[in-house]
Amino acid sequence: MIKRISKLSIADTADLKINAAGLLALPGMIDAHVHLRDLELSYKETFETGTWAAAVGGFTTVLDMPNTRPPTTSREAVLEKISRAQGRLFANVGFQGALVANPTALRDMRNAGAIAFKLYLNKALETFDSSDDSELGQALQAAKECNAIVTVHAEDGNAIRSAQERCMAQGKTKVGDFLRGHTPAIEVSAVRRILAMTRQFGVQAHVCHITIPDAVRLVRRTPNTTCEATPHHLLLSQSIFKKQKTLAICVPPIRSERYMRGLWRLFSAGQVDILASDHAPHTLDEKTATNAWKAASGVPGLETSLPVLFTQVSHCKITLRRLIEATASIPAKIFRLTQKGVLREGFDADVVLVDPKAKIRIQPNEFLSKAKYSPFKGMPCIGRAAYTIVNGTLVAERGKIVGRPAGKVVTSDA
Ligand SMILES: [Zn+2]
Repeated sequence: MIKRISKLSIADTADLKINAAGLLALPGMIDAHVHLRDLELSYKETFETGTWAAAVGGFTTVLDMPNTRPPTTSREAVLEKISRAQGRLFANVGFQGALVANPTALRDMRNAGAIAFKLYLNKALETFDSSDDSELGQALQAAKECNAIVTVHAEDGNAIRSAQERCMAQGKTKVGDFLRGHTPAIEVSAVRRILAMTRQFGVQAHVCHITIPDAVRLVRRTPNTTCEATPHHLLLSQSIFKKQKTLAICVPPIRSERYMRGLWRLFSAGQVDILASDHAPHTLDEKTATNAWKAASGVPGLETSLPVLFTQVSHCKITLRRLIEATASIPAKIFRLTQKGVLREGFDADVVLVDPKAKIRIQPNEFLSKAKYSPFKGMPCIGRAAYTIVNGTLVAERGKIVGRPAGKVVTSDA
């Protein structure tokens, strides 16, 4: 807990003193969209390696996604993750469950500690037929009954599947074919459909990794609804595929420069609520495929988010205040982490000391994550986490883990 904040020297004794001259003390960052994997996908990432990456990246709390093996679709699965995480977390972790249509199962997951429920409209994880309005309505009703937050991957799975089948049949398997198969319209129509339904059922909704300005405007017109954008959708456009090929594939895909600029404008103006990395580690083998439709989707982001965004602060493209809101105070509000997101006496002692002058270059081979690739590879950046403090314990210092696993499993307070 943060005991005291003072401009004058604090006389209380301390186990550890940090000379933070020239550093900025910010609330520990919260990443609402992270795939820590572990369990049977430990070859991609584990609770240790994922939270190492979080801590050195300045994140003190991350929310884990349920599309694991086995998937997080039951009370037992939530409890299994919580028990396996004990003593292995270098940042705080909240576990998202998968949205299911059975109200008892949903309530049991919530009571076991699930912090939110993920809905995959792209059908990456199917617990019911989400293209069927009545089944989706049942699931949203269940979420409403247990006062749960529904996080949404908003792309129409049927539309993507038919685009993929059409392309495969015609031998269209290049990266460009994959990009053309994931149209902006597939995202915007999914956002429109789900927000009409969450509004009808009175459910708190959060749209994940939004990429299209029109979709953001739909979010802004819907009460009790928020959205996130990733650093790669905010700062990269499709020219990245020339260098990176399938390595930069993610869903929704990185868009054209026009969409990227529009998204950035809305994010910097606070119309996109929060930043989330969608840290999605895979092996290099899984990422490289001659058939782009077969390459694993997702890029790691925990170790690049702060440097690439802080660089934009340095260049006055976004204010520091906006960055703090998007990475700490607003995600804490959305996910009801009432003791986090702000540096205030009585709040959890999750702090990142940022070196605003540090000049670094993104070097994936130095990542602590198991996924040693990045669409930001080689990018020169200004600013990095110098010290990361989790629950009062110094865990990371300038790219290295220096402390014990002080992270805890977190749940919503409401
Ligand atoms: Zn994801």
